[in-house]
Amino acid sequence: MTTHLTQTKPPVLSVVLPVFSVVLPVFNERESLAELHRRLSSVMIALAEPYEIIYVDDGSRDGSGDLLAAIQQNDAQVRVLHLSRNFGHQAAISAGLDHASGDAVIVLDADLQDPPEVLPALLAQWRLGFDVVYAVRRERKENLFKRSAYDIFYRLLRQVANVEIPLDAGDFCVLDRRVADVLRKMPERNRFMRGIRSWIGFRQIGVPYNRAARFAGQPKYSLLKLLRLAFDGFFSFSYLPLRLASLFGLLVSFLGFLLSVWTVYKRFTLPEFPSGFATIVVGVMFLGGIQLIALGVIGEYVGRIFDEVKQRPLYIIGERRGFDDERQAPDA
Ligand code: UDP
Ligand code: MG
Repeated sequence: MTTHLTQTKPPVLSVVLPVFSVVLPVFNERESLAELHRRLSSVMIALAEPYEIIYVDDGSRDGSGDLLAAIQQNDAQVRVLHLSRNFGHQAAISAGLDHASGDAVIVLDADLQDPPEVLPALLAQWRLGFDVVYAVRRERKENLFKRSAYDIFYRLLRQVANVEIPLDAGDFCVLDRRVADVLRKMPERNRFMRGIRSWIGFRQIGVPYNRAARFAGQPKYSLLKLLRLAFDGFFSFSYLPLRLASLFGLLVSFLGFLLSVWTVYKRFTLPEFPSGFATIVVGVMFLGGIQLIALGVIGEYVGRIFDEVKQRPLYIIGERRGFDDERQAPDA
């Protein structure tokens, strides 16, 4: 009976599904890639489990794409997604998540600011049963302006966000399969990954690490892109800006009401009522300013609603390398 059972078992699958998938968004990181791949591979090999490394070439224009293709040629664990243009860091991460098949998905930057050597410590927490293990920066090697900007941003976001977003946690993290699946199904376009990651819940833990300096080159986040990301964080996770607009409106209307009562009273009690030109100008300017700010705030939300309604894909893949078709995840 037993022998019969063993004989009818389906043949063992020839492909070994990876336990770990590492997702790296790459935008013009030519100088770092060789060193990155060397360090990351040696960490992954030491873990002694099947793994895959997914480089997402986010429309690089410095030859990073060709370099990644060459790395993929020489390493069977490597897969490369070439996006059709630069879609941005958060979209590149989404592309990687959609194509990762590991039990744990690791997201890390390609500029070696997130040292691959920290991974075993993160994975140890995942093995203990945590679904999301995010790395928390103990220190940053960046200039004072950027450091203070980040400081203010994270602390402000924590005050206004309607989810608890941990301080100083970036995109560097380990996600359990089920979390990766949940994240993939989240339909929103304006992705502030660390916000969504906190929003979904599950068992989460932070592991402190020292954020290194960039291995080479300039940051690929321009000030404008950073500002956009910060805005996504605020407007996607908080209604406070809208409420502030209403609160301000209420306050100003109340003051306006008091002023009207006073004006009418003076109109009838003073024999020569002064023509308050300055008052009118100040009033108009002040109210105009507040109205424009409120409109801008509403615009931020309307723009985001428009993005969602259009339902455009988050990214478009130009080419992929190293994926077997059977295991290929569908495009998002
Ligand atoms: N990146 C990307 N697309 C972009 C900008 C950045 O894929 O449009 C990648 C970049 O190659 C790096 C990571 O995102 O691997 C983080 O970017 P960066 O180092 O510029 O950000 P910072 O560390 O300054 O926050
Ligand atoms: Mg960086």
